[in-house]
Amino acid sequence: MTTNDLAARAHALRQQLTRYGHEYYVLDAPSVPDAEYDRLFRELQTLEQQHPQLKTADSPTLRVGGMPLPEFSQITHSVPMLSLGNAFSDMQQDDFARRHAELLQFDERIRRELAESPIRYATEPKFDGLAISLLYRDGVLVQAATRGDGITGENVTENIRTIHAIPLKLELAHPPTLLEVRGEVLMLKRDFERLNAEQLARGDKTFANPRNAAAGSLRQLDSRITAQRRLSFFAYAIAQVEGADWPLSHAGEMDWLQQLGFPVVAQDLRPVVEGAAGLAAYYESVLQRRATLPFEIDGVVYKVDSRAQQEELGFVSRAPRWAIAHKFPAEEALTLVEAIEEQV
Ligand code: NAD
Repeated sequence: MTTNDLAARAHALRQQLTRYGHEYYVLDAPSVPDAEYDRLFRELQTLEQQHPQLKTADSPTLRVGGMPLPEFSQITHSVPMLSLGNAFSDMQQDDFARRHAELLQFDERIRRELAESPIRYATEPKFDGLAISLLYRDGVLVQAATRGDGITGENVTENIRTIHAIPLKLELAHPPTLLEVRGEVLMLKRDFERLNAEQLARGDKTFANPRNAAAGSLRQLDSRITAQRRLSFFAYAIAQVEGADWPLSHAGEMDWLQQLGFPVVAQDLRPVVEGAAGLAAYYESVLQRRATLPFEIDGVVYKVDSRAQQEELGFVSRAPRWAIAHKFPAEEALTLVEAIEEQV
């Protein structure tokens, strides 16, 4: 390819990804399967890495999510809500190093930068829902916001209050003066099926997948509609604590959140493991269990367990350097497209 061809390709990819991102994050109506989006995103990332002069300030590779909807009031996140870098595995390869090459690269970088080996990682499913920030002052839920573009999100406090799994008040004699919990709002597979059956019976539009159903249900201007949809929640991070001790590890954070009354995923789905071999074993075991889980996941997430080590590693523009999403192979990509085509 000539330099002009490369620039034209990068431009076309930016335009395409920006449009798909808007459909997915803002309109809750993707027109292509996630695997297709991921493939184009990777292509643009590789082009920009190999030809840094092609990078632009508005590239989707630098951005997090989409714009918040103007119908909601906006909330500025005091701690930005970032994305996650991702890794893929080629499950057709028999050889471990080839199959999990990207995972090995991630672990190698962490070991090099921390000058330690092996690394302890906290593992978790990658929930396929939408990220939410919950703010508690003196133990009372005062604000809930979507991720939006990572800096500014939508104020969905009223809607979040309709989700039974989310504590409105922390049952503690001395709650932290400030606590910001992050997690994923999602719809269980059985609730998604029920909702679509009801929509169909009423002659209303059905949802392409549980993620769209969750996002569409939470981003309603009328919280009575949200209340009728069964939404679930899993906490996966703490962003701020004041007036209480902040646990020193990610696993410790999860245990504490559970004690405070937040739903966190079952212990056997979030083991702390050592090194790349531990991560790969977890990946393969969750991949096997994927279909039997009550909620949809599109991969697993690995986080360096020690918070001191997380701080040492820090962040790049759109993601922490101490965590990565390990995506599962695409599932039912065609079914999704067909479902979308049926709707339009
Ligand atoms: P991401 O969804 O890949 O990863 C970051 C998000 O993961 C977080 O914001 C959080 O909501 C979620 N998450 C789930 N479990 C988590 C856990 N245990 N710990 C921490 N975070 C957890 O990043 P992104 O930038 O929001 O989206 C990119 C992905 O969205 C793409 O890979 C693609 O699959 C999909 N997408 C699809 C389209 C489309 O048109 N089909 C468009 C845009 C994005």
